[in-house]
Amino acid sequence: MEIETIRTGWTLVSSAVPNRSTHRFGLAYTGLFQRRSRRIKVPVKCFYVQVGGHRLLVDAGWSVQAADHPLRHLGFGLWFASEPVMDASEAARNQLKGRPIDAILMTHLDCDHVSGLQDFPDEIPVYASKAEVAYARKARPRYGSLAEGRDYRQIPFVDDASAPFGKACDLFGDGSVTAYLTPTHSAGSVIYKMAEGGRFSLLVGDNGYSADSWEKGLLPGPLYDANNMRACLAWIRRQAADESCAGVYCAHDPVDR
Ligand SMILES: [Zn+2]
Repeated sequence: MEIETIRTGWTLVSSAVPNRSTHRFGLAYTGLFQRRSRRIKVPVKCFYVQVGGHRLLVDAGWSVQAADHPLRHLGFGLWFASEPVMDASEAARNQLKGRPIDAILMTHLDCDHVSGLQDFPDEIPVYASKAEVAYARKARPRYGSLAEGRDYRQIPFVDDASAPFGKACDLFGDGSVTAYLTPTHSAGSVIYKMAEGGRFSLLVGDNGYSADSWEKGLLPGPLYDANNMRACLAWIRRQAADESCAGVYCAHDPVDR
């Protein structure tokens, strides 16, 4: 198993995004009523994963368009809440330089995760949860229209008592990639467990912004369900403590693991 971190630039966000407790105002993560000079810069990562013979991209990071035409690409609302800071050479397509991708697995459909999809050909299947695709259509102020325009393959979840929220999917039927539905950061967020040779790694998307999220239980700003997020962070903490766990990767971790 090989997991390569691809940092597709940065985004300027409120300091309430990685840690909700820094502000008392519930919508603080949007940056409303805060000086832009007080924003913090967090990396926007996606991951190139080789596991069980599959070559996968987990999330797509910022597109070339986010560098070249950020306002037009995102629209004012999304641009205001999460302004991209990047060079076009940092987009995943440009960093991967034509390396093969069998499938793209989405943790969720926020703009800094779907933006880069448009740089990759339509023939590459893109997986997401049914709940997330439906939520992205409904919650327009959060998602804008960026999440549309792609035919997502819905992850066929089944009941699984060992999953953190009772739903899991052995994505390729060979045990190499297990998807878990986690209604935490968004209605249909997904965690992917990659397994090979008795070891596993977790790709948790925005279920946590660094190890502090699950080690100290720091709640991130944008939340769909706070209680679910607390339960999910506790689950990640238990997984991370397992001696077979090779790593936990989140999309905006300031540290490369
Ligand atoms: Zn994100």
